[in-house]
Amino acid sequence: MECIHCKGRMKRATAPFSADRDHYHVYWDAIPAWVCSQCGESYFESREVDVIQKALSALDRESALLQGSGE
Ligand SMILES: [Zn+2]
Repeated sequence: MECIHCKGRMKRATAPFSADRDHYHVYWDAIPAWVCSQCGESYFESREVDVIQKALSALDRESALLQGSGE
């Protein structure tokens, strides 16, 4: 597997991932990913992306209960 930016070699490593939602922000320090040994670009596999999306939809659902009416 090679990097689409610099054609460098991709290594199995971890990368941080953040998500900015309307009422909260999530930051994971180290999610398994492919990281370019040359430029540092990271790619997540679909398995990790699926889990992230599931985690975010659970957070969306639960955090809706914590939001005020805006008044
Ligand atoms: Zn690269």
